[in-house]
Amino acid sequence: MKNRPKITKVEVHQFEFEMKDVEIEPPIAIPVYKPGAVTHLKAHAIRIFSDSGIIGEHVGGTATEYSALPTFVRSLIGRNALEREAIYNEAKQALRYQARMGMSQVDIALWDLAGKFYEAPVYELLGAYRTSLPCYASTYAADSSPGGLNSPEAYADFGQQCLEMGYPALKLHLWQDAPIERHIAVIHAVGKRVGGKMNLMLDPFCAIKTFGEALRIGWACDEERFFWWEDPFQDGGVSAFAHRKLRQLVRTPLLQLEHVRGLEPHVDFIVADGTDFVRAQPNYDGGITGVMKIAHAAEGFGLDVELNGQGPAQRHLMAAMRNSNYYEMGLLHPRVPPFNPPVYKGDYRDSMDAIDENGCIQVPRGPGLGVELDWDYITEHSTGVTVYE
Ligand SMILES: [Mg+2]
Repeated sequence: MKNRPKITKVEVHQFEFEMKDVEIEPPIAIPVYKPGAVTHLKAHAIRIFSDSGIIGEHVGGTATEYSALPTFVRSLIGRNALEREAIYNEAKQALRYQARMGMSQVDIALWDLAGKFYEAPVYELLGAYRTSLPCYASTYAADSSPGGLNSPEAYADFGQQCLEMGYPALKLHLWQDAPIERHIAVIHAVGKRVGGKMNLMLDPFCAIKTFGEALRIGWACDEERFFWWEDPFQDGGVSAFAHRKLRQLVRTPLLQLEHVRGLEPHVDFIVADGTDFVRAQPNYDGGITGVMKIAHAAEGFGLDVELNGQGPAQRHLMAAMRNSNYYEMGLLHPRVPPFNPPVYKGDYRDSMDAIDENGCIQVPRGPGLGVELDWDYITEHSTGVTVYE
């Protein structure tokens, strides 16, 4: 048996990347299309070094996540890097006053390290189920710029474009602030144009002001036979009671739990009858370890788990899950690319044209997360490195 790798050092790299024609709209910080705008976005990479020379890496997580790490992360030095389950449980307790931030990023990097140690892709270590992942096109939020996603017709045209490219499903993000009639008009325009030819979803990202207006949007989704709607209104996506009531009044399946973190609250919400589909996200829910726990818990209830966002971790997770329908490809727009930093070498990318003729992307097959980070790019755009050793 090979020597177990001991953790020797953890580095957190902060870097910046530039997006043209995109503006971050205050106060909700939603990226929208804005011709001529230049936006600088921050991103983070974590590297966990071991005495075997193997390095676990992950790009993801916000500054807020990493700000919770310092006290906990030092306890990792000298630990067996393969003890992910023990580290997950310790982190959960140690970071209980910090909303368990940062533990997800550590866990994902440890999975990458483990895969490299065992010379196997993460999805095989988790239990491989598939390698080809059906995608949904997930739109940018609505804008008011010429050529943008600015009207019911523009959304219908973009839906048509995604359908013709081979996407089997489309999810709409609409306005932060618009009359409810405008939201309803988009739902009907898209439903009439591409409904029945692809699955349609709606994500108001908690922007709708009242339960009553949420109902009106839900009934429009019913009329167009939407596949799911998620985070309808400004309870913030966290009230199991309110969402149970919505489920009693709207036929369209509801997808909740993007804003409720971790295994136990997910299960509580399911038991309270608050959702039809279960949301999980490796960067919020305790990493790959945490999301697999949610996936298996939901499987026991007969429910599907839909992963939020895109990236290598999401691909490996979905490749190891039966009970999941779509990979979220986004955010997509007719005029601008997704706002992901260009950090992967080789052919890994999350972009509108990344899908194959069946509307699928592939899970990376190399060891660990199966991607090579472009450290020249990250170093050139660095705005700071924190080292724990
Ligand atoms: Mg969402």
